[in-house]
Amino acid sequence: MKPRRGGHPRPPLYFELSTLNLELFQAEVFIGPGRNFRESVGQDHPIMTERQTPAIVLTVREYGEADLLVTFLTPERGPLTGIAKHARKSRRRFAHCLEPLSRVVFFLSPKPARDLEFLQKGELVRSFPSLRRDLKRLGAAALLSEVAGLLAGPPDALQEIFATLEDALALLEQGEPPDSLLPAFMLHLMGLGGYRPRLHHCGGCGAEPEAPLAFSLPKGGIFCGACRGKAPGPLLSLNPGTWKLLRLAQDLPRHKLLRLRFPPQQRDQSLVIFRAFLRYHLGKNLKSWSFWEKVIRPTGNKGLNSGHTDKISSPEGESHG
Ligand SMILES: [Zn+2]
Repeated sequence: MKPRRGGHPRPPLYFELSTLNLELFQAEVFIGPGRNFRESVGQDHPIMTERQTPAIVLTVREYGEADLLVTFLTPERGPLTGIAKHARKSRRRFAHCLEPLSRVVFFLSPKPARDLEFLQKGELVRSFPSLRRDLKRLGAAALLSEVAGLLAGPPDALQEIFATLEDALALLEQGEPPDSLLPAFMLHLMGLGGYRPRLHHCGGCGAEPEAPLAFSLPKGGIFCGACRGKAPGPLLSLNPGTWKLLRLAQDLPRHKLLRLRFPPQQRDQSLVIFRAFLRYHLGKNLKSWSFWEKVIRPTGNKGLNSGHTDKISSPEGESHG
């Protein structure tokens, strides 16, 4: 894989989950200077002949007096932003469609304006009510949808990224344990989005790596005990159990990922590495991490950053939230 330090393929869009209270569960989108957002999407894709699209709602925020600004993931064009006019006053055209994580079909106006689509109406396909009632499953879903929205860039991977997120939501809805599903599906999404960690061979000698193992953030890959001294840092240590699970998760097709079980230590170590790795290459933190941390550690005394992974050298910009 090619590290893209500081490269922003598109404006940041993410969940802001500031409370554990489901009644107050709100998602906000922060849209940066996004001029090249639609341009880059539009040039690589044929114009849709039918102005409707399957979509998974990523974020919703109030816009002006009566409108809602919605970001949503699509299988043909990746993440899009649209305005639902008057949606706050009358929700009839969008009944139950404007909730983050909902799987919907959006009908778009014939012509988008600059970077914005205009949503004419929506039809709900699936709302995943059970996963919304369980904070841990909701936390996993929020992280996966944020990763999918951020990494849905490579045109030939868009369909698969959409399908992977939709599958993950459906499985969480069915009650599959988020502890195992989250790291396995996140690893798949990262691979599809062009951030596939190199886990099979040592980045130094090319051999099957032997412990003690280290993960190099700049190289996005693993180094064996003999080579880690020469590996470019920051480095994170990786225990052999976690490494084997991740390697297996990377090799398995998506429909077999549920066979894997990540114990808490392996789950946390995997997520620590993903978090540092994505932050290193995207230049920003996923907003949903803080929600996930609150969910798995309600007392808040030990976060992902101080989990079970020993830092060999400190990833730069290390900060909570
Ligand atoms: Zn080596």
